[in-house]
Amino acid sequence: MQIITTKNELKAIVGACKANKQTIGLVPTMGALHAGHASLVKRAVEDNDVCFVSVFVNPTQFNNKEDLAKYPRNIERDAQLLESIGATYVFAPTPEEMYSAEEMNTTFEFDFAGLDKVMEGKMRPGHFNGVVQVVSRLFYLVQPDKAYFGEKDFQQLAIIHHMVERSSMAGTFGNLQIIDCPIVREESGLALSSRNERLSAEEKKTALAISKTLFDSLKWAKEDNATVASIQQRVIDTVNAVEGLEVEYYEIVDQTSLLPTDTFNHAIGCITVYCGPVRLIDNIKY
Ligand code: AMP
Repeated sequence: MQIITTKNELKAIVGACKANKQTIGLVPTMGALHAGHASLVKRAVEDNDVCFVSVFVNPTQFNNKEDLAKYPRNIERDAQLLESIGATYVFAPTPEEMYSAEEMNTTFEFDFAGLDKVMEGKMRPGHFNGVVQVVSRLFYLVQPDKAYFGEKDFQQLAIIHHMVERSSMAGTFGNLQIIDCPIVREESGLALSSRNERLSAEEKKTALAISKTLFDSLKWAKEDNATVASIQQRVIDTVNAVEGLEVEYYEIVDQTSLLPTDTFNHAIGCITVYCGPVRLIDNIKY
């Protein structure tokens, strides 16, 4: 496995892979890797001749400076994990290598068709502009045949599908395929997240109520008289009743449009909860 830190080096390696007609898989990450990331990488290794993993804490997608500063970073441990599961190349640039000063300080504009106006987009203005900025740059640099993303960040995945559908009309990313990968959880049910590293042992136990409530809500949704609105409220009330947890939002929306729905068909519930100072997200399909 080779670690690459500059765009020029990356372009040369990608050029050689293309010349050798090797298929390329890409897994974009922000590092602090865990078994959730590893599941994406293992699939990319299986499906492609070469697997690139980017490890880059993208400053332009953080609207909260403290969150950016506190985001866990551990490139040595990440590299060890990636090597052990067969990644071919790791791209780990500095922010200055990735962006010009102007790019770092101006908002990347994109037509999200409204997908950025709800949930994460509403709570973290500009977040998805930064996500699309970094992901489109990585696609441009790595020119992958397939790129792998987790359903843990369901809204991000919907936005990336939209971005690729729009731009492949213009031929930008060739035949790039986006591969959706299921959420990996701890045995306890807690969705794996780099942010879990910031939870104390006690907070981690408290956080279990999030996934448990989401799973319980699948049963509640089958009860007589259950409506989307009543289940939404019951989830919020149940999680908020746990000391140490505070729901930011829980919304049951259509899986494609991400708009509120009044039926459980093709619906997904997306939750964001503060566990102490740590902001956790999870979701469940009905
Ligand atoms: P991040 O490093 O948080 O930006 O995540 C990089 C990729 O890993 C994204 O596509 C995430 O959706 C995915 N990912 C993060 N956590 C999990 C998880 N628990 N299960 C599956 N995929 C995940």
